[in-house]
Amino acid sequence: MPSLSEETNGAVKMLQPGATIGIVGGGQLGRMMAIVAKYRGFRIGVLDPTPDCPTAQVADFQVVGEYDDKTAIHDLAEKSDVLTYEFENVDADAIDEVRHLVAAPQGTDLLRVTQDRINEKTFINRHGIETAPWREVNDFDELEAAIDELHYPCVLKTRSGGYDGHGQHVLRNDTDLEKIRARGDRGGGFPPSILEGFVDFAFEASILVSGNGEDYVTFPMVRNDHRNNILHITVAPAEVSDELHRQAQDLALRLAKGFELAGTLAIELFITKDGRVVVNELAPRPHNSGHYTIEACSIDQFDAHIRGIAGWPLPEPKLLSPAVMVNVLGQHVAPSRALIGSHPEWNVHDYGKAQVRHNRKMGHITVLTDDTAQTVADLEATGVWDDLK
Ligand code: AMP
Repeated sequence: MPSLSEETNGAVKMLQPGATIGIVGGGQLGRMMAIVAKYRGFRIGVLDPTPDCPTAQVADFQVVGEYDDKTAIHDLAEKSDVLTYEFENVDADAIDEVRHLVAAPQGTDLLRVTQDRINEKTFINRHGIETAPWREVNDFDELEAAIDELHYPCVLKTRSGGYDGHGQHVLRNDTDLEKIRARGDRGGGFPPSILEGFVDFAFEASILVSGNGEDYVTFPMVRNDHRNNILHITVAPAEVSDELHRQAQDLALRLAKGFELAGTLAIELFITKDGRVVVNELAPRPHNSGHYTIEACSIDQFDAHIRGIAGWPLPEPKLLSPAVMVNVLGQHVAPSRALIGSHPEWNVHDYGKAQVRHNRKMGHITVLTDDTAQTVADLEATGVWDDLK
């Protein structure tokens, strides 16, 4: 596991308006970063293979290329003062290779830790923070031995590359285990993996923390409901005791300090039935569960990200109003658009994606409310999200 070196987070000091921020990845997260960066007067470049991708629509220029195309990353670096990324599966070596050309305030250790579930769990545990119990497993024999220790049910995940439940198997009994063996026997191989004990959670939550390499601020903890492993609804704030909120904030600040964080980090959590806060995984960037901050907080997660990588001071985020955020997936685009005219309370966000596909994140809607349970019920009653019931 990489150790955090002195020069890792070569923090930028007060990047001036007019400077150029290069974003690797041109999806909705890059787009929302770019929009707020424009308020601050920064210029935006984006690297993405799709011309006119969501970020390019609001950027000053696009380098069209694959995310791991070293020539394209070099090109973006040459044209930028600061480099950032909107997803964690960026080639860390490629970023390191251009650091003589451009500042990368987030460093690449943060990427190397969060790209690899074993590095990630090791880092979290070393900071005295609880995760699911876990074992590294690289072949079927190691898997059997790990199950003997962790017992069923447990979750087998690939070390890297998985997202939204891809590359994951819940193992409940020997029949499930045999399926993994059969897959290997059919030539499917056994990718480097991690076995996690199953966390008996009451609900899933997340908390965002942002930093500028020196100071760190947290956002309120929120509750997240998933469907088919994709975030469906976020309720802000999570309805938990002050003590649980404090615990989540405390662990978020410890992780941020550990990373000397610049920018925004999302921490996905399980709240257990016996009231413990357990970290599931980290995302070194703004996160879907933080979109509510755009309307509901005094500073939003994208603004905090941009200010953090620019070396600006960060104000303490305040929740201005409770809120509910619901994702608009491909199948929800037409029915939700049909209702915009009758819902002035909907803060509609559309990511400008050319292709509408089933389960693709196309936009989201945030509603500010004094009664989050009623608002969730009202949203569900529209019928737009019936396919997820
Ligand atoms: P992940 O890709 O690690 O975020 O996992 C996707 C989803 O699978 C999570 O949001 C949980 O609902 C579930 N999950 C993952 N790991 C565990 C675990 N160790 N125990 C219980 N549920 C889990």
